[in-house]
Amino acid sequence: MDVAKISEAKDLQTRMERIGAHSHIRGLGLNDSLEARASEGMVGQSKARKGVGIIYQMIKEGNLSGRGVLLAGQPGTGKTAIAMGLAQTLGAEAAFTSIAASEIYSHEMSKTEALTQAIRRSIAVRIKEETEMIEGEVIEIQIDRPASGTGSKSGKLTLKTTDMETVYDLGGKMIDALTKEKVTSGDVITIDKATGRITRLGRSFTRSKDFEVVGSNVKFVQCPEGELQKRKEVVHTVNLHEIDVINSRNQGFMALFSGDTGEIKPEVREQINTKVGEWREEGKAEIVPGVLFIDEVHMLDIECFSFLNQAMENELAPIIIMASNRGITTIRGTDQSSPHGIPIDLLDRLLIIPTVPYSEDEIRKILKIRLEEEDVDMSDDGLDALTRLGVETSLRYAIQTITTSALVCAKRKGSQVEAQDIAKVYSLFVDVQRSTQYLQEYNEMYMF
Ligand code: ATP
Repeated sequence: MDVAKISEAKDLQTRMERIGAHSHIRGLGLNDSLEARASEGMVGQSKARKGVGIIYQMIKEGNLSGRGVLLAGQPGTGKTAIAMGLAQTLGAEAAFTSIAASEIYSHEMSKTEALTQAIRRSIAVRIKEETEMIEGEVIEIQIDRPASGTGSKSGKLTLKTTDMETVYDLGGKMIDALTKEKVTSGDVITIDKATGRITRLGRSFTRSKDFEVVGSNVKFVQCPEGELQKRKEVVHTVNLHEIDVINSRNQGFMALFSGDTGEIKPEVREQINTKVGEWREEGKAEIVPGVLFIDEVHMLDIECFSFLNQAMENELAPIIIMASNRGITTIRGTDQSSPHGIPIDLLDRLLIIPTVPYSEDEIRKILKIRLEEEDVDMSDDGLDALTRLGVETSLRYAIQTITTSALVCAKRKGSQVEAQDIAKVYSLFVDVQRSTQYLQEYNEMYMF
């Protein structure tokens, strides 16, 4: 199972996802007595955050199994943000998966398969690999290989210390990697001989045929005595779904990038569960449960609810947080009504936490955090206007206005976003309320 490969794909994914709408959320912002502070990117919603803080403690003590959480409140009251805050509090390795319940209905896969994939995405496996690592400060690297252009893959890397000289035959591609990355004296590098992964100053790169050959005889240097082969353990964190995909003959590695994974055969999952179980017994792997957030949960139907009911019982279950802004409504697939459209037997298993609308001051604070996060300079008047927009339309609309108003400002060559830029954006892009009003006024035009 090539977990190193998956880990690399993940590095790329993380980089791509960094600039998301919730990128400023770093935790729940609670102190030791679980009181909410304005920190870790979180503002307001103190009671809900405290409630989720208690859930965090239950998770730590292993008391949440078989149960889930329901965040109940209007749209835009930070339900997603809070669920993400919990995932962050669980640790950097804990996965956070967010889906809208309606997403699971597609032609490509059954709804239970879609739910299974979301569940398995939310469970990380920490895999420890024993590998021989060479680590040390670079004093001199002597690369001995045939003149470039011969296409030869041979090459030797000499790591020298004051009283020791070691020659590693690392293969041409890896030598190329070293030369391309311009490893120089004083650099600390590690080389994983099994995978060929070279790490320098916290960055890592792997053998690749795309590395260009810089020279045929490159001199750098290496390695105080005793530092050699210091690190023997490499840890990869990947989620179960990624392991499923990469081991699924139909899909393969590239499916991780395209997201087009199709259905995964149950046999593949069984094999993987068995394998991961063995690794756990041997102390090679640990399970890190993350958070699966399901928004608009009333869009799930009765079959999905019973599927989730069972999934929560499973030993390999993530923390399932559902979100709803509905009151009493019909359970999809039945003619019965229930609170939030959730069957009573499932509702019984949920800890329900309400979220409340934000005050003007809280909206201002959240907007300020987003301005910093997006590196946008805005005048006080601009922030006043933006806050008013947040109060009168929605927080989400106001946040979207940050990027667009910064563009409008740049267009007029301004240095700070002003109220006028906000006004311009407001005139160009309608919010939901105005869009609805417009549609109502022009209803007839849209009737076909
Ligand atoms: P919901 O899931 O209830 O609809 P949300 O978390 O998706 O709410 P949005 O209305 O999308 O909230 O929020 C817009 C932005 O405000 C997002 O960037 C979100 O991270 C941020 N945000 C919402 N609540 C808070 C909060 N309490 N503290 C800090 N940022 C928040």
